[in-house]
Amino acid sequence: MAKKKNDSIMDKIVSLCKRKGFIFQSSEIYGGITSCYDYGPLGIEMKKNIKDYWWHIMVRSRSDIEGLDAAILMHPRVWEASGHVSTFTDPLVDCKKCKNRFRADQIENRGVCPTCGGELTEERQFNLMFKTFMGPVENAASVVYLRPETAQGIYVNFLNVQQAMRQKIPFGIAQIGKAFRNEITPGNFTFRTREFEQMEMQFFVKPGTDEEWFEYWKEQRMKYYEHLGVDTSKLRFHQHAENELAHYAAAAFDIEYEFPFGTLELEGIHNRTDFDLSQHKEYSGKDQSYFDEATRERYIPYIIETSAGVDRTLLTCLIDAYEEEQLEKDTRVVLHLAPHIAPIKAGVFPLVKKDGMPEIAHKIVSDLQNHYLVFYDQGGAIGRRYRRMDEVGTPFGITVDTQTLEDQTVTIRERDSMGQVRVAMDKLREYLDEKLKYPE
Ligand code: ATP
Repeated sequence: MAKKKNDSIMDKIVSLCKRKGFIFQSSEIYGGITSCYDYGPLGIEMKKNIKDYWWHIMVRSRSDIEGLDAAILMHPRVWEASGHVSTFTDPLVDCKKCKNRFRADQIENRGVCPTCGGELTEERQFNLMFKTFMGPVENAASVVYLRPETAQGIYVNFLNVQQAMRQKIPFGIAQIGKAFRNEITPGNFTFRTREFEQMEMQFFVKPGTDEEWFEYWKEQRMKYYEHLGVDTSKLRFHQHAENELAHYAAAAFDIEYEFPFGTLELEGIHNRTDFDLSQHKEYSGKDQSYFDEATRERYIPYIIETSAGVDRTLLTCLIDAYEEEQLEKDTRVVLHLAPHIAPIKAGVFPLVKKDGMPEIAHKIVSDLQNHYLVFYDQGGAIGRRYRRMDEVGTPFGITVDTQTLEDQTVTIRERDSMGQVRVAMDKLREYLDEKLKYPE
């Protein structure tokens, strides 16, 4: 089963995403809008599965992390306190000849256009926050921003959550939500877009214990990608050097993946020290310290942040799972998605459209539908139906055949091995439950 992946893999992924209903260009009938994408029926299922699994391991299965869903629009002072108004900028340059625009820090040969070799303009600092106005009057007093990260919604709710849930440090707050950045050079499909979704968890710890927690979260977060089925040989940590560190961070590691267009960040793990809560204390005038009942100490906690992109994770899983398998007569396109993130869990097929097989297959669908997304298909030869499911990563095919009529068993065909087993119809749910459970 040799993996055949070549340079045009991104074209293949983009085309598959559109053809099969994972991801569409936004506003396509109007010619599209740069770097905005819509998730179709299968894309949204897969996205939801990725987020559900993150929520499961980060929130539901632990007693030291609470969930939150903060508003996208926040008080503009938040972004002054966080440093985004003054420092959330990228250096922008334009080519005087071909007029292309670049991020100066991403150009190898400073001053020279990477596209045409022309001369570049001086660097200008460009703020990445989207600005809009609250209410009917458009003036400086009504400016608000679309949040560029979900983290700040967590910081300003630190004491609300801590007190409401009677949490003790160390504990964390997790949130999944949209973020917006007016990126200078979006691209590589959904890798870098201007509207995207983040899964962030901020863990509040006692100063002095931060380095230990930082190590703990690095390890935990790497496991997440392994459990999503991502090829571990393509994952790695990248430690930020002193000159790469963001203004708030004492230490930072990225989890990177070897994409076809470069080894790039999937998730950032940062030791943000007491920077954020101290800033909010100063700008809001409200104390943000925590009182430790046991030791009778009062302090501003340090924060270990884990910040992942939903869209980048989904793209990673698609790229990593894509395979063109050379069979004797043709090529099988298959997405080897981990069963728990695959959009459709099982295809259900009557072998022929008669002898009561469609009715039995429909009954199986209606039983399983209460628990998983399954797909009924009676069109064409059974081999073709299996292939259609392989292409969208469906891990199991359930076929109602002649033997079903005799002994109430069905054939289950497994996507990766293409092996087949017979399972009693009344044991189907049990069988799938076992196969679809979250990795431990
Ligand atoms: P990059 O260096 O790629 O611009 P960053 O270091 O600015 O990323 P963070 O601020 O650490 O990114 O954001 C955390 C995560 O959010 C990233 O690891 C990524 O998965 C996701 N993310 C950030 N910017 C974008 C974007 N423009 N499009 C899609 N996902 C993004």
